[in-house]
Amino acid sequence: MKRAALAQAQVLKAEIAGLEEAATKLEDDLHAFALAIPNDTHPDVPIGPESVAVTLSTHGPTPLPASPVRDHVAICRALDLLDLESGALTTGSSWYYLKNEGALLELALTNYALSIAMKHGFTPVTTPDVVRSDIAHRCGFQPRDPADGASSQMYYLAHTADSDSTAVHNHPELVLAGTAEIPLAGMFANKILSASELPLKVVGLGHAFRAEAGARGADTRGLYRVHQFTKLELFVISDTESSGVMMEEMRQMQAEIFEGLGLSFRVLDMPTEELGASAYRKYDAEAWMPGRGSWGEISSTSNCTDYQARRLHIRYRRQTSASGTPHSAEQAQASVPFAHTLNGTAAAVPRLIVALVENGAVFDDSGKVVGLKLPRTLQRFWVGGD
Ligand code: AMP
Repeated sequence: MKRAALAQAQVLKAEIAGLEEAATKLEDDLHAFALAIPNDTHPDVPIGPESVAVTLSTHGPTPLPASPVRDHVAICRALDLLDLESGALTTGSSWYYLKNEGALLELALTNYALSIAMKHGFTPVTTPDVVRSDIAHRCGFQPRDPADGASSQMYYLAHTADSDSTAVHNHPELVLAGTAEIPLAGMFANKILSASELPLKVVGLGHAFRAEAGARGADTRGLYRVHQFTKLELFVISDTESSGVMMEEMRQMQAEIFEGLGLSFRVLDMPTEELGASAYRKYDAEAWMPGRGSWGEISSTSNCTDYQARRLHIRYRRQTSASGTPHSAEQAQASVPFAHTLNGTAAAVPRLIVALVENGAVFDDSGKVVGLKLPRTLQRFWVGGD
């Protein structure tokens, strides 16, 4: 009798272990499927590809006529602002050095945009350029191509072995941040903010690293599509009711930045096929670049609603009502909901340089480039200027 019971216990133990393993696998699969579900879209978002984007507004002076003599690469070479050859030699193609006024322009542009962001209540932050791939994934970036597991748009860091091999084994997978949005979002992971802290506005200065696999043609010429660039990024955490209003505020602030630079630009409501996994709505700004003979994207602003907050567990505590403490799990969840997150470009340096150089180049009567007319707004931020 006892022996039979013991034998049965052994069988049940094995069965339980098997079921537990199956349940863990199912939970992992469920989690992976849940992570792969993209955000919902705002009802006004145009449906379809990039070509159906809706222009919301146009700003600045009348665009100059398109002209190849305004090509930023030729102008930067003539004025000794850019060294692509040394970049190619030291690192590879689409890596570059900015020199002279080119280097000063990078510093002035970031400080100029930073000053406007701070005026609008954004707290300055400098961010790590290296992040866990898991955090990038939770922000809606696909660190690896699901088809072949290869790195798609991100650079992976190979782990260096140290004396303790288990430390290498346990080390999280790391990637170079494609945007400061990732470390900025990560800063608030697993946090419960108080409603009085919202909207929480930070502006992060970091480097963006893009593998840009598959990029070809005119886009990869000069500074337009490079592998590393300095970017000042706006990041906002709002309550669930205010993210739409915050998005409009960010749009106005970006218009202030680009108008101050004297650029001709337009703001587009991007269609469904351009939203990526995380955005509920996305506005892109495009500046006129006469040397390229086209509009080029200079900024992108997304309302991610609760997509990133759910994955990173960013919540806030609602102001408690007169009814007091919650009685059910649903009530508790309602009083500590997931927040909404938004991100937007304040300054993506190389694209701004392309626009400023192509629009601001000064030519003499023989057609030779003799200088660069830069917006007066940058004067205050010019190192060595008065
Ligand atoms: P994204 O995070 O991809 O929306 O990019 C934000 C902004 O960075 C864009 O609006 C561009 O101005 C700029 N940008 C994106 N990719 C590149 C690149 N590879 N090289 C230079 N600038 C870029």
